[in-house]
Amino acid sequence: TFQDDIVWDKAPCRFCGVGCGLLIGVRNGRAVAVKGDPDSPVNKGLACVKGYHSILALYGEDRFKTAYVRRNGQLEPVPVQEALDLVAQKMQETIDSHGKDAVAIYGSGQWTIPDGYVAIKLFKGLIGTNNVEANARLCMASAVTGFLTTFGLDEPMGNYADIDHADVFVLWGNNMAEMHPVLFSRMLEQRRLRPHVQIIDLATRTTRTSVAADRSILMAPQSDLAIANAICYEIVRNGWVAEEFVRQHVAFKQGKTHIGYGLEDHFAFNDEMTDITYDQFVAYLQDYTPEKVSALSGVSVEDIQFLAALYGDPNKRVTSFWCMGVNQHVRGTWMNNLIYNIHLLTGKIAEPGNSPFSLTGQPSACGTVREVGTLTQALPGGPVTSEAARQQAAEIWGVPVENIPDKPTYHTVEMFRALDRGDIRFIWIQVTNPMVSLPKLNRYREGALKEDRFVVVSDVYPTPTTDVADVILPSAMWIEREGFFGNSERRTQHWNKMVEPPGEAMSDTWQLIQVARRLGYEQWFPWSEEEHIQAIWEEYRRFHANPKHNMAPYEELKRRPGVMWPFVDGKETLWRYNARYDPVAAEHADDFYFYGKPDGKAWLIFRPYEPPAEVPDQEYPFWLSTGRVLEHWHTGSMTRRVPVLHRAMPHAYVELHPDDARELGIRDGDLVRVISRRGAVTLPARLNFRGIPARRQVFVPFFDEAMLINEATIDAFCPISKEPDYKKCAVRIERV
Ligand code: SF4
Repeated sequence: TFQDDIVWDKAPCRFCGVGCGLLIGVRNGRAVAVKGDPDSPVNKGLACVKGYHSILALYGEDRFKTAYVRRNGQLEPVPVQEALDLVAQKMQETIDSHGKDAVAIYGSGQWTIPDGYVAIKLFKGLIGTNNVEANARLCMASAVTGFLTTFGLDEPMGNYADIDHADVFVLWGNNMAEMHPVLFSRMLEQRRLRPHVQIIDLATRTTRTSVAADRSILMAPQSDLAIANAICYEIVRNGWVAEEFVRQHVAFKQGKTHIGYGLEDHFAFNDEMTDITYDQFVAYLQDYTPEKVSALSGVSVEDIQFLAALYGDPNKRVTSFWCMGVNQHVRGTWMNNLIYNIHLLTGKIAEPGNSPFSLTGQPSACGTVREVGTLTQALPGGPVTSEAARQQAAEIWGVPVENIPDKPTYHTVEMFRALDRGDIRFIWIQVTNPMVSLPKLNRYREGALKEDRFVVVSDVYPTPTTDVADVILPSAMWIEREGFFGNSERRTQHWNKMVEPPGEAMSDTWQLIQVARRLGYEQWFPWSEEEHIQAIWEEYRRFHANPKHNMAPYEELKRRPGVMWPFVDGKETLWRYNARYDPVAAEHADDFYFYGKPDGKAWLIFRPYEPPAEVPDQEYPFWLSTGRVLEHWHTGSMTRRVPVLHRAMPHAYVELHPDDARELGIRDGDLVRVISRRGAVTLPARLNFRGIPARRQVFVPFFDEAMLINEATIDAFCPISKEPDYKKCAVRIERV
């Protein structure tokens, strides 16, 4: 029968940070079936519409099968080996004439771990530039700086099993029904099984998540900072502080305030802190009474007190979830800190169900970008400014430590500004589509198209980014090569190569190795094509060989549907910092030990409310927020080639409040212009569609390359994380 011919193998889904385990059915060399892996603790056999249709993304008609080189303005097909020769030659010429900081690589949270690892080894270790960035800067950099400032170590202490234990879920600007659908299903299932479970949606627009929640609370954009402080105010006022926990495990700090919004150049990747007392912290909170914050946020006093009472109830386990609403924020680092403050004040942290849980958007934002360190300021073992981290890298890579520069260069927005200015002359873009996803897009497209810039793009389909390329390299996609991803809950997942890539396509890892060899670095990349992924994994693991971060061996990962780190004595660490689960914490304490900080305490950092970079005014009276939709992955370059997904969501739209639409004379389906100070885009209006924004707000998804909303967005960013704010800028709406 048809079924008998199918060979099944496991792979993590590549279409979001949840990291569902899938089983892929292959027949006659072609992927033909998908089902959720019942053995995966992530999804327990479920998948969402993107996961179930994921294999179809391999088979779009316009897959790149060969390389292309731009000659006289036209892209011409060439053999891949010839294109790789040209890439290496241009890189070397650029380094020779403009210096090593004139070459850059820009990857993504969809890079596999080997892709990202080979990229930093080549660029940071051998060429000697920190010009390595990834699109995860645009989605989780604030989560990283939030973790580092509060705990000193990145990534969540909990895991998805928190869902099975929590009594209350508070979703901070997080439309999980569309962005993390399988986790959302797990949450709904828990509420079915345990009817006392409550889901609270705190957001700036009404979404599918709000409709399913027990209470939907709408807030004004940027007012989350004040709301979090008001919750702390109420927790203190009502005596709900976990005093013993706080005395033993929390240090009070204050960071700098009134720092800019990154519109100016800004190169610091940390924050300066001063010690404060608990009483000083309480004194600062007096500006955040529910009455004052209600006036600022539009959230009722009753709702603020309701939220505080949920967090403050000693009999309720509370999990907070957040993602882009908190991270893509000019105060993204602060917002992460503030949610931790609530959990630290109430002692609801690092135990089953009590969990401040930062979710990621991409399948390997954690595994590749955060753990490997494919960001300008990072190495696998710590920041580039740390001598110990550089020494470790030099030792493992077998290079002089002086090779590895000790200062960060350009974060993502600044990297594309540097390309525009001409400080960067050569950029290699892999598995991401910045000419759709960067904010304030016009400026960066013009920069990439300038005369003496050389742009290499490794991808699977034509995109607006391949439109600006001088060389296109055809990439092997997902199950066409062996790889690893790391999801939001510290779970590393391995998959085998299951099908052949089309034509001459090869993995991004192998492309990088081929160019490294042409640059004369053969001895650092000596592996055969058959064994290179295993060899890379075992070399990379050496960076994390300590009980705070141990990664599982290759064979273990091959065998199991993912393994969470730290992997100590053959066991996953389920809740970090908790002595019952974490052997490192158990060495120091009977209960909790926050070993990321030298004093073993988590830092509760007071952060004030500050206004956003741009607010609506008479000329631009609406807020614009952007995001994803359930059917499409990011810029849609893959999912729009899946017929069923494309038909379900064929184009972008602007979501308006029906009363605003009526005032403007706009009906459902009418074409309207969304105009900002930076650019304008024409889209059909949708009323009462997926979601309803609050009055004077609009929402536009960014997946549609024919309606580039990022021409209107602002490139202001959090000055600590450098993550842009895609959720708030001022626009005006005009009927076409
Ligand atoms: Fe894939 Fe995310 Fe859907 Fe899971 S929830 S199947 S990881 S897109």
